[in-house]
Amino acid sequence: MGQRRQEKFLGETGMEDVVVIGAGLSGLTAAQALRQEGYRVVVVDKSRGLGGRLATRRIDNTVIDHGCRYLQSFADPNLSIIPDLMATGILQPWRPESFDLGADGALKATATGTLYVAPQGMSSIAKALAPGLTIHRHWRATDVTPLPQGWRIDGESLREDSAKQSEPFEARAVVIAIPASQAAALMHGTVQDCEGVKELLHQLQQVDFEAVITVMASYSPTQAANLPLQTGSGGWMITSQTHPTLRWLALDSSKRTDPQESVVVLHSNSAFASNALDRADLEPVGNALLSEAATLGAWMRSPQWMQVHRWRYGFVRQALGASILSSPKLPSLVGCGDWCNGGNVESAIASGRAAAAALVKTLSS
Ligand SMILES: Cc1cc2nc3c(=O)[nH]c(=O)nc-3n(C[C@H](O)[C@H](O)[C@H](O)COP(=O)(O)OP(=O)(O)OC[C@H]3O[C@@H](n4cnc5c(N)ncnc54)[C@H](O)[C@@H]3O)c2cc1C
Repeated sequence: MGQRRQEKFLGETGMEDVVVIGAGLSGLTAAQALRQEGYRVVVVDKSRGLGGRLATRRIDNTVIDHGCRYLQSFADPNLSIIPDLMATGILQPWRPESFDLGADGALKATATGTLYVAPQGMSSIAKALAPGLTIHRHWRATDVTPLPQGWRIDGESLREDSAKQSEPFEARAVVIAIPASQAAALMHGTVQDCEGVKELLHQLQQVDFEAVITVMASYSPTQAANLPLQTGSGGWMITSQTHPTLRWLALDSSKRTDPQESVVVLHSNSAFASNALDRADLEPVGNALLSEAATLGAWMRSPQWMQVHRWRYGFVRQALGASILSSPKLPSLVGCGDWCNGGNVESAIASGRAAAAALVKTLSS
């Protein structure tokens, strides 16, 4: 049935069925669901790797999660990817000793539910969702324009070995699976001509993100063992809602099966990040955060090496409050992402699935 549908559509239109913009968790989920329904799907992503905020950096032989930290049990078991990823060995439970950091710098032991991490890095979750998909990496979409029978997606290849301007894609339907402000930028060019686009842009204005600054810092094993905490071999994790600068920090290397060095990952809170976000040089910003963390252990001020990453769209502050972005005036374009309804991995998957279901309805009617 799926195969028949694919041949029929290609023969009639010569276009792709669906272009998915963004290969984060929501985009990959939508793309796989549509592919499994027999549609011809192309995914584009501006990054070299897959996964968006499911992000892993590799420095020599060291793997570091500088975006999404872990998965927790899903509220809706029908959405959960944990059992399959556990079965294939991609996910493993992580049992760090957990603490809450107060505004005054005091630590208090806390309990967490089971946490799941990917020893090869959280981006390996995205890779596990990609088989069978046609993905153009390093391709940044710049405009989405309505055509009489579908959509044109303009963009540019960011690959060093190709011409800057690339051929556009044409498709019967589009999934925009990128953070809300970036999604709005893709549609600004067509707002004058299209009532449906105006409606979508109006909805997107409600969504708001918080920025995060992430520091990755490597220490000698003796330094990293030296927190003033009774921690076991499972590592440690510290969360704060009230500290003036720090949101979360943990011994990231305790997620690995055979860690080569001791790596701490630290996330700032949004107030700190919004002040530091546009600094040209992030090294002083990273050092400032490590100095804050040094109240927990002076060694944290002196890493062997450090890298800093800025997430302009890190966490969702205000969600859309719907499973997808859509307008009845434009049923062949939908938006999805964690910003639709929740702000975490589970909501990204829920939104990706809902986007695919909406387009299946449109394309088959
Ligand atoms: C520091 C941090 C820690 C987190 N920790 C957790 C956690 O512990 N647990 C949890 O559940 N969630 C966590 N999250 C949130 C979680 O990572 C996200 O909810 C989820 O990954 C979002 O997936 P997404 O597909 O909606 O968006 P994204 O992952 O942002 O994917 C969007 C994709 O679109 C691409 N893109 C953007 N613009 C364009 C363009 N113009 N053209 C082409 N491609 C484009 C990007 O490169 C990216 O790959 C964390 C997030 C951050 C930043």
